[in-house]
Amino acid sequence: MQDIKRTSKLQSWISTGRGPILISGPCSAETEEQTLETARRLALTGKVDYIRAGVWKPRTRPGSFEGVGVKALPWMQKVKEQTGLPVTVEVANANHVDLCLEFGIDMLWIGARTTVNPFTVQEIAEALRGVDIPVLIKNPINADLALWLGSTERLIQSGLKRVGAIHRGFSNLGETYYRNRPQWQLAIAFRNAMPEIPLICDPSHICGRRDTLLSVSQKAMDLDFDGLMLESHIDPDKAWSDAEQQVTPEALDELIASIIVREPKLEDEQGQTQLDLLREQINHIDDELLNLLSNRMQVAREIGRFKKSNNITILQKARWNEIMDKGAHYANAHGLSEAFMIAYLQSVHDESITQQERVMNG
Ligand code: PEP
Ligand code: MN
Repeated sequence: MQDIKRTSKLQSWISTGRGPILISGPCSAETEEQTLETARRLALTGKVDYIRAGVWKPRTRPGSFEGVGVKALPWMQKVKEQTGLPVTVEVANANHVDLCLEFGIDMLWIGARTTVNPFTVQEIAEALRGVDIPVLIKNPINADLALWLGSTERLIQSGLKRVGAIHRGFSNLGETYYRNRPQWQLAIAFRNAMPEIPLICDPSHICGRRDTLLSVSQKAMDLDFDGLMLESHIDPDKAWSDAEQQVTPEALDELIASIIVREPKLEDEQGQTQLDLLREQINHIDDELLNLLSNRMQVAREIGRFKKSNNITILQKARWNEIMDKGAHYANAHGLSEAFMIAYLQSVHDESITQQERVMNG
């Protein structure tokens, strides 16, 4: 995917000028041999810009493998020597920062479990004051945009010039399809709030499994992310952490080759006009939809007045089930996802109830 030259983000500090950047390497550095062998095979693909490895692993439950610690830093130095590629390591406190700087680590990243803690992020930011090193900050594990932006601001305020963000999804009770639900709208909101900060996607921690990595990577590229961080391992099934989501360097090579990187804007004017016309149609349809929705709410208010004068409850369970069934059938018949239809109807219904309540209770 590196061959595509993009126009919009060339000024960004993270850009290599070869297209979206790719960071890959094991979830954890386990042994010197595993770390070096993974890196060597990644370098052979010619597609990787940074080699990553977790050295200190903040794990959700005690008893899980927590990383080999500082002894992996010389291995990362060897990775650099042997592949010529820069290396990146996760830091979770000021001491990790000092050690990484001592061992010449080229880029740092802050993990999702650290971003949630302003004191820790501030401590890391202070340890980096006066240092010129790129730092990427993952979104917090919970879907809190302000916390992500705030942590990014702490890094910028410490004087760092090269700050980037990583979208790795958000944990969600009962989620099964994703390990961490992507909630793309939050990544888009992050980019809108801080358009100058490069934004990378981490499909490995979003997916938690191999078979969906390509579709999530493709989606990130379609949303014009600046790059990808993907975990890789010489023997993924035997990895000491995150085994289900890691791929071999060769599988990574194939995955990257399958991604289509599209231009953010068309060079060709005729194509652009065609796109503008289609967008015009979308605008028109959106206007109509909004008008219809507003008409629907007007009717909902009338129903509210009727219910008030006849003293009946707002929520009529049988009526609601009827609407949901109709929606599900419609979704299936028209190639729309049932999840979308349920979310849409739920949201319209919530607003209807609010409108009726206002009429009934003043
Ligand atoms: C990791 O990158 O291996 C990691 C622990 O990720 P996250 O902070 O996104 O959970
Ligand atoms: Mn991991």
